[in-house]
Amino acid sequence: MALVQSYGAAEVVTGSCHLLQLDNGMKIMVDCGMFQGHNEHKNFHPFDFDPKEVDVLLITHAHLDHVGRIPKLVKEGFSGRIVTLHSTLDLAEVVLLDSAHLMEEDYRTHYKKAQRRGEEDKVRKPLYSVEDVYAVYDLPLIYAKYGEEVILGKDVKATFHNAGHILDSAIITIDFKEKGEHKRIVFSGDLGNHNDMVMPVPEQVKEADTLYIETTYGDRNHEGIKQSEEEFKKIIVDTLLSQGNVLIPSFAIERTQEILCILKGMYDNKELPLCKVFLDSPMAIRATRLYDSYHEELSKCCNDYLKRDGAIFEFPYLQYTLKQEESKKINEENGCIIIAGSGMCTGGRILHHFKNRIWNPKNAVLFVGYQAGGTLGRKLVEGAEWIKIYHEEIKVNARIHSISGFSAHADQSELLDWIEGFERLEKIFLIHGEKEAQPVFEKLVRERTGKKVHIVKEEEEIWV
Ligand code: ZN
Repeated sequence: MALVQSYGAAEVVTGSCHLLQLDNGMKIMVDCGMFQGHNEHKNFHPFDFDPKEVDVLLITHAHLDHVGRIPKLVKEGFSGRIVTLHSTLDLAEVVLLDSAHLMEEDYRTHYKKAQRRGEEDKVRKPLYSVEDVYAVYDLPLIYAKYGEEVILGKDVKATFHNAGHILDSAIITIDFKEKGEHKRIVFSGDLGNHNDMVMPVPEQVKEADTLYIETTYGDRNHEGIKQSEEEFKKIIVDTLLSQGNVLIPSFAIERTQEILCILKGMYDNKELPLCKVFLDSPMAIRATRLYDSYHEELSKCCNDYLKRDGAIFEFPYLQYTLKQEESKKINEENGCIIIAGSGMCTGGRILHHFKNRIWNPKNAVLFVGYQAGGTLGRKLVEGAEWIKIYHEEIKVNARIHSISGFSAHADQSELLDWIEGFERLEKIFLIHGEKEAQPVFEKLVRERTGKKVHIVKEEEEIWV
């Protein structure tokens, strides 16, 4: 029998990393992501498997929690093939380089401070460097295409299907033979939201012996997208009209592009008061350019914009502030919208903007994405009155809003519908969800499908 073990995204939402070992000894890894929030320290633990023994790495999509530990995997001996979609590798490069830069910057800052105390030896080295990221791209890279089989070995093949989550995100089907019998395991990756303005809807896979499915929103449904959009627009208009600024911590990939589409729509419909909109995230700017260049993969709405304006993510109020000096100049502006990373406020330029503006009650912080436990974003959403930024305590006087309808993830009912869309399905395993939320979904799936459902624990041996 084949064995699957999860080395992340088991009772948590980050660190996706699943290893499938086939009867013939072949080892196939699906994703190798970074832990974020509470579990960040786990990134520094040695892998509990030998990276040298992994034959193939399949990547579902380029989010950091799905690709963030790949340079570490390579550094520690993985030398097999990497199979994924073309733009996923391009996006992953942007994400990994950004992550390496942030870690190096962080290390330098801590090192300098520790030096003054004579404790520089105690400062933890970054998980990987920029060079380690480039080393990933020296490995054999195999580009998959949606719906086309990729041969991984004798009687073993993988097929990528559109997950509609971010640009070129995938549901991966792995077919293999065991004692002459055909078997199929499906990894959902992260599944998209049906109301996404930028991405198409997730493809329905019809058959599987075993399904590993994400459960990020297994315990709840999103607010309706229309309602969320109205709420979003109202906060923006009200804040700008009362001379305030709107800070939007945003994930560089997908959420930023969706927010830009909505703001562009507001501009078109003359709903957006005269203001400056800054996209103040080098990573989001690079990702947006990649979205532009792979526009055939995007929704009809995006392609209509392209036909009409010659550009998808552009409108007259919008400025891309790539350079640091341009970013600093934003401090002098008032009545503006600032979109900056990181999405969960764990680093990036949003922290500078918080430092400058979160104390001011005229301003608003608008969360448009999931905030994992332990992150600064989660603290703010949960009503923190004070936050610490760069060792400085800052009073939170700005209004904090959180809108859930923009999630790039399917919600509870969409996940259930997708599971029910299978015509043949034997066993269901739940991954990529928070411990408290997963039992709710487990019960629902069991009631709705009558199938075997199991919440995967970290490193648990699961025979499929
Ligand atoms: Zn994702």
